Order: sequence, then C-alpha cells, then structure tokens
Amino acid sequence: MTEQTILEKLKEGARRFQSEVHAGNAAEYERAATTPQQPHTLVIACADSRVDVESITSSGPGEVFITRNIGNMVPAYGEMLGGVSAVIEYAVSALKVKHIVICGHSDCGAMKALLSPDSTAAMPTVRSWLTNGQAALKVADALDTPDDKPGQRLRNLTEQNVLMQINHLKTHPSVAGALARNEISISGWVYDIGSGGVRVAEDPSRAFIPVSASTV
Ligand SMILES: [Zn+2]
Repeated sequence: MTEQTILEKLKEGARRFQSEVHAGNAAEYERAATTPQQPHTLVIACADSRVDVESITSSGPGEVFITRNIGNMVPAYGEMLGGVSAVIEYAVSALKVKHIVICGHSDCGAMKALLSPDSTAAMPTVRSWLTNGQAALKVADALDTPDDKPGQRLRNLTEQNVLMQINHLKTHPSVAGALARNEISISGWVYDIGSGGVRVAEDPSRAFIPVSASTV
C-alpha cells in the first residue's frame, strides 16, 4: 500500500464512520457531545494495533478513559513523570473513575523484547521504557520450570508484568488515596488476540481467571 493509498483508506474510514456509525447512533453521540464525560473506568493498555479496548469491553463513547503505551507500563510514581502519570492523576482525581484496568495481551512485542534484550539495542528510548518491566521479568524467570511448554515463559511474563504494573499504579498518590477511601478497585487483564478471550486478576488476587463467554 502506498502512503497516498493509506491516507485515502483512512479518509474513507472517517467518511464511513460519520455516515454509518455516528449517524446510526445519533442519540448516543448527541448525549456524549452535550454532557461532560464521566467514564467509569481507566484502561491502561498496550499500544499494539491489535488491542482495541472499546471493542474488547463493548464500550461506547464516554465509558472508558484510555491510555496506551508499549507494554501497558505504569512507571512507579516519581520515576518517569509524564503522560501516563498525568492520565492516572486526572482520571482518578478529576474524572473520579471507579475502576482501573491494566490490560496486557498475547504475542506482545514489548514482552518479547524483555525476553530478548538484544532486539532493542538500536532503540535506546524503547529500551529505557522497557525497564519498567524489569522486575516482572525477574519474577517470571523465577517461575520458570524445565517442564514449561513453548510460550509459557511469554505467558508468565505477560501476566507478571500486568501484576507488577498494578504495584506501580498503587505508588501514585491519587490511586493510593482513592484505594484507602475504598473509592476505586483495580483489575489486571490479559487479552488473547487469537481467541478473543480475556483472563482477569481482580486485585488483590494475583490469579488470572478466564472470563467465560457463556456468562457474558
Ligand atoms: Zn503489547
């Protein structure tokens, strides 16, 4: 696909959204346009192009406040003050979200890069960002057994990374305060791109339980 073709494809997508999706849900968008947003949930997901948070959670406009980055990382408070920290503070303190989801996923390039550090040798910024997952890597390493099936190490790391980012999340003052007042809850998710399934660990549990399709 040439660059021009890609832009045309995106513009056609915007036209189709306006004429079909937006026009087809006019009342919902009218309400979204005329009332302040009140999202119930903050979702911190991976930037991977296959992780579509609204689709995975069947959410419409105004329901989920989202930030996405490589590896669904949350720097511990004070370590890398920036976009992620600001999103968390705003979502909790101003929007008063009731729940925070940290969402990892199968086949995550960031998790694979943690397992193969040489792959980011030429990308110093990515490498630096991935240090947010180093502690999770150590935990996943400790869980390794000789009987592990292929892919188990990546699966372990993906889960442990989500749990570690929950730990980091709790170092943010806005989150710590809201937790102490029982105003907020946290869960860790791993989305499986191949099956569409989601495994959820409801904090403080560290066990990932599949969300059964039949109960939805
Ligand atoms: Zn990813």
